[in-house]
Amino acid sequence: TADSGGLLDVVVVGGGQAGLAAGFYLRRAGLGFEILDAQEVPGGAWPHMWESLRLFSPAQHSSLPGRPMPRVEGYPGKRHVARYLASYEERYDLPVRRPVRVEAVRAEPDALRVETDRGMWRARCVVSATGTWWQPYLPHHPGRAAFRGRQLHAARYRHPEPFGGLRVVVVGGGNSAAQIVADLAGHADTTWVTRRPPRFLPDDVDGRALFEVATRRRQALLSGEVDTGGVGGLGDIVVVPPVRAARDRGLLAARPLFSRLTAEGVAWDDGTRLACDAIIWCTGFRPALRHLTPLGLREGDGTIAVNGTQSVAEPRLFLLGYGDWTGPGSATLIGAGRDARGTVAAITRLLSSTRSADP
Ligand code: FAD
Repeated sequence: TADSGGLLDVVVVGGGQAGLAAGFYLRRAGLGFEILDAQEVPGGAWPHMWESLRLFSPAQHSSLPGRPMPRVEGYPGKRHVARYLASYEERYDLPVRRPVRVEAVRAEPDALRVETDRGMWRARCVVSATGTWWQPYLPHHPGRAAFRGRQLHAARYRHPEPFGGLRVVVVGGGNSAAQIVADLAGHADTTWVTRRPPRFLPDDVDGRALFEVATRRRQALLSGEVDTGGVGGLGDIVVVPPVRAARDRGLLAARPLFSRLTAEGVAWDDGTRLACDAIIWCTGFRPALRHLTPLGLREGDGTIAVNGTQSVAEPRLFLLGYGDWTGPGSATLIGAGRDARGTVAAITRLLSSTRSADP
């Protein structure tokens, strides 16, 4: 533990669903580990998301390994997920230390050194499971600094009330944008803008169907078959009930993306202008990997080269839950367990090979 100089088998950075799923399998493998999480409370990113958020799958298709998510009518909300994650930690007595923010992971010959705001840990392996919520992405857009209204990323949006009676532009063609546009209905005068026309998935495609598509793609890739293209080919937006209701009321028509911001609003190349009070950027997230900077592993696209979930250049480091590049469907509740299981199996092999090599 902190500053004790003791060497753990594994430190997991991040105590959201991906870190907890790793903890489940680490416990089962009998390894010595701790989970370091920056938040005051359990639940990873979920408590921070907007109030109306609903999962895109029913509870029975949103479970981590071992303990099923308690069922609810319809699609669970974010509090249900956060409560589930809290009870999951308790049920498996997972050693989560919080709030502990990992600032840097450094390579030493016989260990990885984990530097935090609460002391130092050392471990034979590190699993990084810090998610993407903490690294919201804002694209560069001409005039962004000129706009005098309010600008926020979807990660800072909580509920529609502060936007009551305002003219709001929502930017982005994904699930966050569609859900926030639906959430603002009846409160704000909303304009939705997207780079390309929004692509809604068929109404009967929910998170479970997406996971099956991702799984088929993984199997095709593993067996050397043609890439099935994964879920991207199907569309972008899951038609959860509030999105369906807004779409059916004709509230989800999008305009093309503007070309620049002005002091008063946004403007298109054809001379059209739109005045607005607020712009909500639903423009995605990037992996939160700053703590790994000292290892010097980032590729040009911001990811880290991996074989499965194991870093190619630093094999004592594993990356869990960041998205398709760390495993198809890995950034979902239902998908986190599969990659966690494979990761712990790889860690077990690595530790037993290094132990048997010890003099
Ligand atoms: P997180 O939940 O972000 O947890 C990471 C943890 O690591 C956090 O507690 C964070 O504080 C901590 N951390 C970060 N950096 C550090 C550090 N340096 N040191 C220590 N701790 C650190 N998935 C589904 O399956 N179904 C859905 O319906 C669904 N809806 C989604 C809706 C939205 C709007 C978003 C953004 C995502 C959704 N997802 C959904 C995807 C995914 O399940 C979530 O993003 C989930 O939060 C990812 O879990 P995680 O454990 O990887 O990361």
